[in-house]
Amino acid sequence: MMQEYITQAEQDLLHTYNRYGIVFDRGEGVYLYDKAGKKYLDFFSGIAVNALGYHYQDFDEALKEQIDKLLHISNYFYNEPAIQAAGKLKKASSMDRVFFTNSGAEAIEGAVKAARKYAYTRDGHADHEIIAMNHSFHGRTMGALSVTGNPHYREAFEPLIGNIRFADMNDFDSVKKQVTEKTCAILLETLQGEGGIYPAKKKFLEQIKALCEERDILLILDEIQCGMGRTGKMFAWQHYGVKPDIMACAKAIGGGVPVGAFLMTERVAEKSLTAGDHGSTYGGNPFACQAVSKMLDLFEENDIIGHVQEIASYLEEKLDALAAESDVVLARRGLGLMQGLECSVPVGSIISKCLEKGLVLINAGSNILRFVPPLVITKAHVDEMVSILQEALKTA
Ligand SMILES: *Cc1c(COP(=O)(O)O)cnc(C)c1O
Repeated sequence: MMQEYITQAEQDLLHTYNRYGIVFDRGEGVYLYDKAGKKYLDFFSGIAVNALGYHYQDFDEALKEQIDKLLHISNYFYNEPAIQAAGKLKKASSMDRVFFTNSGAEAIEGAVKAARKYAYTRDGHADHEIIAMNHSFHGRTMGALSVTGNPHYREAFEPLIGNIRFADMNDFDSVKKQVTEKTCAILLETLQGEGGIYPAKKKFLEQIKALCEERDILLILDEIQCGMGRTGKMFAWQHYGVKPDIMACAKAIGGGVPVGAFLMTERVAEKSLTAGDHGSTYGGNPFACQAVSKMLDLFEENDIIGHVQEIASYLEEKLDALAAESDVVLARRGLGLMQGLECSVPVGSIISKCLEKGLVLINAGSNILRFVPPLVITKAHVDEMVSILQEALKTA
């Protein structure tokens, strides 16, 4: 039965992904079920999105209530969920202004426009530059691709937006070399996700922040994957005490409902996007914002962050043990429930074996196994994952 769906999909959908041959049907807790009824432990969360797992009753009920009230109204009017969500997001981040988007890439687009507009207002002219990082990932739209430091993703689509310079993550000298009098922003993921799970070093972020303050350059942090509690703080930069001027979020903030946001401080907002500069038909829609609002409530009510801290140290311990005993695993990297195991071989076949054995895992780069489970996993789930992975590694 699954094969019929897959054959149909391969005829109808644009072939932009090499998908694994599974059709998922439903989820319950931290388990997924495919169309054939097979059960899988989820350590992937739909790419770090499903922070509360599946069928989380209070969350689902809040969404159903909103469906019965109002799905969409546009930004020509106010709506209560957007106002609530913005207030809660501000409180969680200590940022001052929020713009809701429909995806992560759009949050990056907005962040880039906001930085350029800030510099335009300050200097009275355009033509500013942005420094981004090699091996970064910021999304697939033309603007987001322009700041993504992966030539493979970019090549066919050149020319992208200009005035972007690339530096190396965790190499402050390489950043300093790219600074000119035109630099208006430095953009990075606080913890690189797709690039292979590389956390920023504290000193690196501190040096960048100091440089930004000295030269009135804006620090833009992409917290799309590493934000929303994943690392054991609401936002990963809160580990470092280095607050961005502009921040991009998406993925887990809507718990599975497609929504993103970019936020900025008041100092930036005063000189940045104003009426007519930016917009979105769906952005800030009451349904999506109800999801954000309820997610933030549930995080607080259930101390999700505290839970992540506790489970993450257990996961780290288990992954370190695995790295020590396995010939294939070279090293562990990561923060909280965003972890990577660097392997000596491409991990595709390990992932396939895990899927066969009922564990959903994914890679981050060809040799890195990525662990981004729902934030509500327990120690027993970690043990279950490790025992499946151990089996899969034996035959790797
Ligand atoms: C996923 C991701 C994006 C892009 O988000 P989309 O919702 O896929 O557009 C941008 N930056 C980072 C760090 C991401 O992980």
